[in-house]
Amino acid sequence: MKITGIRVYQVDLPLHEGSYKWSGGNAVSVFDSTVVAVDTDDGLTGWGEVCPLGPAYLPAYARGARTGIAELAPQLIGSDPLALGRLNEQMDAAMRGHPYVKSAIDMACWDLLGQASGLPVATLMGGHVGDTFALYRAISQETPAQMARKIARYRREGYRKFQLKVGGDPDTDIARIRAAAAVLEQGDVLIADANTGWTQHAAVRVAHAVRDVDVYIEQPCATYEQCLAVRRHTDRPFILDEVIDGLDAVVRGVADQAMDVINLKISKVGGLTKARQIRDLCVSLGIAMTIEDTWGGDIITAAIAHLAHSTPERFLFSATDFNSYVTVAFTDGAPLRKQGRLAASRKPGLGVRPRMKVLGKPVFTA
Ligand code: MG
Repeated sequence: MKITGIRVYQVDLPLHEGSYKWSGGNAVSVFDSTVVAVDTDDGLTGWGEVCPLGPAYLPAYARGARTGIAELAPQLIGSDPLALGRLNEQMDAAMRGHPYVKSAIDMACWDLLGQASGLPVATLMGGHVGDTFALYRAISQETPAQMARKIARYRREGYRKFQLKVGGDPDTDIARIRAAAAVLEQGDVLIADANTGWTQHAAVRVAHAVRDVDVYIEQPCATYEQCLAVRRHTDRPFILDEVIDGLDAVVRGVADQAMDVINLKISKVGGLTKARQIRDLCVSLGIAMTIEDTWGGDIITAAIAHLAHSTPERFLFSATDFNSYVTVAFTDGAPLRKQGRLAASRKPGLGVRPRMKVLGKPVFTA
């Protein structure tokens, strides 16, 4: 099979809640997502998506994704999309870094591999584990009382894992964590995600102040070294996210006992091929994972579902259904949350069929 063309679409994804706020005063109200179609000489088309959480979260931004894909795509015409190892080597040789640019192309080629083989991506990645898997709900940064109310509301929708957006004023964050913990029920899981927002001393203060609360601390500070220093001052379970940008970071973190759980985001590491490598290494080393992406709609939710659903249950800490946060559906067949849980499609590939009326005309074609 050969790649004959690559089409790029842009889609706006407004949020049901109106806006999403996290550390550093950052907020997004409409996500700018990029959808990629990889066309082939035997008539199959694979679909991928990439959606950075605005330009201030990771070294990635929406127009950068499209500019990068426009740079890379012409060089991939004629390549075999099913030879995913070779394709990733080719992308890495043609463009240094910029993992998020490569993610949607790699995702579309996994969709093609599934369609060509007649198998769901989850089967190709190890097989569906059970019928469904558990999701977490991100709780946008608000007052402590508002965040506690949202936990109660999302629990009624079936979620049992709640990720509080903290990383602001440490005293307010301590109040946020305590207010949230007060409304938890037996079996609920609470994560305080600072998204790099605390200084090292503020993070040590917060972790110490909530030492009697059953809460995970996620990515307190900007650098790996600062996070490691905080980790060594707390006995709360610890998650690294933003600094885990590839296999090397996982190996280093395991060697330093720097975390108990990682947050594995598909586009942060360059696509499903590399995310699966990391997933398999973490399973072998006993590190649990939140499996998700920086944001996205139907296709990213489908890709998350295939990677998460094929992960052994005890190592799948949680996952995200981004398509339930946004008001626009642009495929048929994307997984839909039921009672806080999701399932990957059993159809070949990612199992999504884009609605071309919603996607409109391509913004770029190679
Ligand atoms: Mg995080």
